Amino acid sequence: VKTVRTVADLRAELAPARRGERSIGLVPTMGALHDGHLSLIDRARERCDVVVVSLFVNPAQFGPSEDLSAYPRDEARDAALCASRGADVLFAPPLEEVYPAGFASEVAVTGGLTEPLEGAARPGHFAGVTTVVAKLFNMASPDVAFFGQKDAQQALVIRRMARDLDFGVEIEICPTVREPDGLAMSSRNAYLEGAERGRASALRRGLAAAEAAVAAGERDSATLVAIARAEMTSAGIEPEYLELVSADTLAPMTHLNGAEALVAVAARVGRARLIDNTLLRAPEQGNETGRT
Ligand code: AMP
Repeated sequence: VKTVRTVADLRAELAPARRGERSIGLVPTMGALHDGHLSLIDRARERCDVVVVSLFVNPAQFGPSEDLSAYPRDEARDAALCASRGADVLFAPPLEEVYPAGFASEVAVTGGLTEPLEGAARPGHFAGVTTVVAKLFNMASPDVAFFGQKDAQQALVIRRMARDLDFGVEIEICPTVREPDGLAMSSRNAYLEGAERGRASALRRGLAAAEAAVAAGERDSATLVAIARAEMTSAGIEPEYLELVSADTLAPMTHLNGAEALVAVAARVGRARLIDNTLLRAPEQGNETGRT
């Protein structure tokens, strides 16, 4: 893998591929790579001729009281992992390459996709995300960019931005990769200490309980959320939010109808603020008790 640190070098590195009409895949990350990130790189490797991984811990998406300074960083390890998965380019710019002196621009998605859930809990977060992702799209001009379902709202917001602003980038959303006990992989799992690690798996257990309740015929949102919450609180986890919303619009749903629903949760476990989610869809009517 070739590491480049400037936009000019990135463009120079990608120029032959662009001239040769070879496809470019981009995997944006903040580093501290784990199997979730690597699954995105693998998917990019499958689909694209040239795979670019970006590594940039973006200050603009961290709130003032968040974990920017503590965020794990190990570029040498990340580069070795990228190489082992066959990535072609690691783009690891310094701060001033992304935000030169006098930087004064913002790209923001407004309205219903950015207001609930993470948007309510982390003011300014999504504007920070969309600004840096817009810049990465302009820097690399990828054909396809790969994001994780783990950050479901982020993926919807980025897809909206790419469509609204005609970036000409296809956004592929890849499945959440989990630890054996169900905990969604996250760079922030490194903050979990001692017993916190075991307790954190209750997030996934709660989501799985909601899935099981749907399979058993439950359709009421409040009941499904209560079932998920009970699993979490029994492990001493009080969710910051736990909501059942439309998987397309993130609008609240009171009842599972034919449309796909997203159950999204955020919770603090020790020093770590963790998020997770699952997609729910009620089976067709007449087939809803699982008796078939
Ligand atoms: P991050 O480095 O946390 O900004 O994540 C970079 C990308 O990896 C984002 O598109 C995330 O959604 C994705 N990602 C993070 N964790 C996982 C996971 N456990 N499974 C799949 N994708 C993930």
